[in-house]
Amino acid sequence: MKHEYRFPNIPELKDVSVFVENKGRQLKTEIKGKFPLRLWLLTKYYFKVFSLIRPIVQSPEGNFYSLYLPPIPSPAHARLFSSTISSVYYKRELPLAVTIGVTDDCQYACVHCSAAGRSKVKPIMSLEEIRLVVRECLDIGISNITFTGGEPLLRDDLEECVACVPPELATSQVFTNALALTAKRARSLKAAGLHGVQISLDSPSPEVHDRLRGMKGAFGAVKEGVKNALDAGLFVGISTYATRRTALDKNLSKLVSICSEWGVHEVSAFDAINTGRLQEQDVELLDTFSRKVLLKEARALNRKHRGRLRVVTQSWTNSGRGFARLIGCLAAHMQFHITSQGDFTPCDFTPLSIGNVREQSVQENWRQLLLHAEYCKRSTKCRMQDPEFRKRYIEAIPEDGELPYSVHNFDHRQSDHS
Ligand code: SF4
Repeated sequence: MKHEYRFPNIPELKDVSVFVENKGRQLKTEIKGKFPLRLWLLTKYYFKVFSLIRPIVQSPEGNFYSLYLPPIPSPAHARLFSSTISSVYYKRELPLAVTIGVTDDCQYACVHCSAAGRSKVKPIMSLEEIRLVVRECLDIGISNITFTGGEPLLRDDLEECVACVPPELATSQVFTNALALTAKRARSLKAAGLHGVQISLDSPSPEVHDRLRGMKGAFGAVKEGVKNALDAGLFVGISTYATRRTALDKNLSKLVSICSEWGVHEVSAFDAINTGRLQEQDVELLDTFSRKVLLKEARALNRKHRGRLRVVTQSWTNSGRGFARLIGCLAAHMQFHITSQGDFTPCDFTPLSIGNVREQSVQENWRQLLLHAEYCKRSTKCRMQDPEFRKRYIEAIPEDGELPYSVHNFDHRQSDHS
């Protein structure tokens, strides 16, 4: 299959086409038009890296490498590639992905919930508002839309939210705890056009997962949800988080072994981040040594599973090494988050808001984020784990400050002092 990639967001490349073709695992590229040499090399490097990786699925729609990426080649991936070139080569940042909160409700009260503590003063976005927000996200080039919560499946119109995302423009995913992911619901989400689900699993031990979720049977619900989603033809990712203890205990290997038996496509291990309810817990976050252990373990797991199941870690994307140099902190570079009440935040874990999509467009919020002193420069490291950033912004949020806290309050304070 061959697709023509164009660059509608980049005036300098208006006459350029890159033809991308998958021949099995290999991705062949043919460039037509005037391409600067460094960009030519970058393009070749980009597709070469994917040629070296075994896809988790090869299908007539293209090669699937990750739930976070549209298939390659495909029209949605062409959009992602154009935005990547704009950001990486021309330094005009265009987002690739958005996470959109659709509800604050949840059946659990997990110890690590990043949404805990957010204000519930404003009403949650209506279906009409979500439709508009999705449209605006697509208009600025987004090619991956993830619906989050709370628990998104508690919204009866989630299928209608998913149906707003045309697969030729973007892939769609839902983060879920799977408690309500029945066979019927999985089928109706697939029929609405959903690409995949990311199911949270906190521990390979059923007892520990149930304890962390505060409900007996939560682990069983994950297993059942994975089966229902796979039967419906959805891509299935498991999302977990790593602490110093779980990294040193090699929990990831135990969890991946279970996921492999269940037929899961991808396991994402996020860093435990001191935000939401986790701020109140006595959890040791990853340090340099445990992070090294985790990265080594993830590399070994990827070698072992050879593409049948992929393991991705936030510790790698924030490592600043190799291909990960292009990634780093996703906030204001590749991604942003919109809360269920329309607040525009740098990411799901950062309790700071730039504005609200009810008051100004997604594009204007993105523009303001990029103009902000903290976000106008890229960071390879996670800002939420950077002590300096936390001191300046997170620890400075007043105790009675409503979350997400307007970042402009800090700007006013700085200009008052200048
Ligand atoms: S601050 Fe950056 S790296 Fe950290 S969780 Fe947010 S997007 Fe990811």
